[in-house]
Amino acid sequence: DGFEVCRRLKGNPETSHIPVVLVTALDQPGDRVKGLEAGADDFLTKPVDEIALVARVRSLARLKVVVDELRHRASTSASFGLLQPLPTISSDDGMNGRILLIDDRGSSAERLVSALSSGHVVDLETQPQEALFKAAEGAYDLIIVSMGLRDYDGLRLCSQLRSIERTRQVPILLLTEAEDRSRMLRALDIGVNDCLARPVDRNELLARVRIQIRRKRYSDRLGEILQESIQLAVIDSLTGLNNRRYFESKLPVLIETAAERNRPLSLMILDIDHFKAVNDTFGHEAGDEVLRVFASRVRTVIRTGDLLCRLGGEEFIIVMPETSIDVAAKIAERIRETVNAAMFPIDKGARHIPITVSIGIADRRRDRDADVLLKRADKALYRSKNGGRNRVSADAA
Ligand code: GH3
Ligand code: MG
Ligand code: MG
Repeated sequence: DGFEVCRRLKGNPETSHIPVVLVTALDQPGDRVKGLEAGADDFLTKPVDEIALVARVRSLARLKVVVDELRHRASTSASFGLLQPLPTISSDDGMNGRILLIDDRGSSAERLVSALSSGHVVDLETQPQEALFKAAEGAYDLIIVSMGLRDYDGLRLCSQLRSIERTRQVPILLLTEAEDRSRMLRALDIGVNDCLARPVDRNELLARVRIQIRRKRYSDRLGEILQESIQLAVIDSLTGLNNRRYFESKLPVLIETAAERNRPLSLMILDIDHFKAVNDTFGHEAGDEVLRVFASRVRTVIRTGDLLCRLGGEEFIIVMPETSIDVAAKIAERIRETVNAAMFPIDKGARHIPITVSIGIADRRRDRDADVLLKRADKALYRSKNGGRNRVSADAA
C-alpha cells in the first residue's frame, strides 16, 4: 500500500531526499499520522484541492533546493567526507515544538491551545502588535495565525512576520474561514507555509503542525551542515588554520592587490626540521600534538593582516601584505626563535621535546605570478635546510 511505498522510498538513501506527498482518505484521520510515521513529507486529503496541492508542492520544492545543493556539494567535495550523512526529514518526529498562537476569539483559542498542548508548548497571544514582539524574541518553531482577528488583518500580520529578520524563517500556519480561497492563495504568496480552514479538524491540525515543525528543524539542520561544509572546505581540521585550498585561492588576489597599489608583499614557507623522526620516535599522535602547538605558537608571533596556512604535512606558509623582505626576515627570525626557545609538550604534557624550524622567504617582484613567488621561497627554504636547518634564508635578489 501507499504507506509501504513511502517507507521504502524514505528508507533508501538513493531516494530518501525526494519529497513524498501522501494522498489519504478524508475519513481516515489515523492515516495522516501513519503517513508521517512512514516518512511522508506532507499529505493531501481526497478529493484533492488545487490550492492545497500547489501550496504543498511549492513549499516542498523550496526546501528541496537546499537539499539538492547539499547533495551536490557532498558528491563534489572531498571535505564532505568528514561530515555525517545528511539527515532525512523523518529523522525528527515534529513533537515538543514551541508554538505561538495568535488568536483573539476566546473559545476557539482555548480549544486550539488544549489540542496543541498535548504534544507542544503553546503561548497564546491575543494582541497582534504584542505578538510581533513575542515572535521575534521567542525562538518559536511555528506561529499559528488566526485569520479572523477582530480589528487586525491576519494577512497583514503574516507579511509583517515575513519582513522581520528574526521571524522570516519561522513557519506560519494560517487558520482561515472556510472557502476563503482567494485569501488562501494570497497568504501562500506572502510566504505563509500552510493554511487550514475552519472548522478546524483536530487531527488534521496536529498532523499539519508536526509537518511544519519537522520541516523547520530539518531546514535549520541543513543550514548548519551547509555552514559547516563551507568551513571544512577551507580549514585544516588538525590545526584550525586555513588550508592549502584557501591559500591557493587567496594568494593570487593578495598579489594582485599589492601589484595594483605598488605595495610590497612577502611570503615565507616554514618546514619543521626532522619531523619524520618525531613520528618515528614518539608516534604519530605526538607528531600531531607538535603540529598543533607549532601552529598556535606561530600564530601568536604574526600580525593580524598576515595569512597563515598549513600547506600540508609539516609545512606552513605565511603571506604578509605590506611587508618588505627586510621586515619579513625579522618576523621569520622571531618565529624561528619562538619555536626554538621552549620545548614542545607531547603525551598530553607528560614529556617535552625540542623542535626547530627552517624558513625560506621571498618578496613580490615585478612579476605577478604566484607560482614564481612560491618557487623562490621554496628555493630559499632549501638553502636553510642545506645550511644546517633551524635558520632563515631569503631568496637572493
Ligand atoms: P626535514 O628536516 O628535511 O624537513 O625532514 P622531515 O623529517 O621534517 O621531512 P620529511 O618530509 O622527510 O618528513 C615529513 C614527515 O611528516 C613525514 C610524514 O609522516 C609526517 N607528517 C605529514 N603529515 C603529518 C600529520 O598530519 N601528522 C603527523 N603526525 N605527521 C605528519
Ligand atoms: Mg617537508
Ligand atoms: Mg620537515
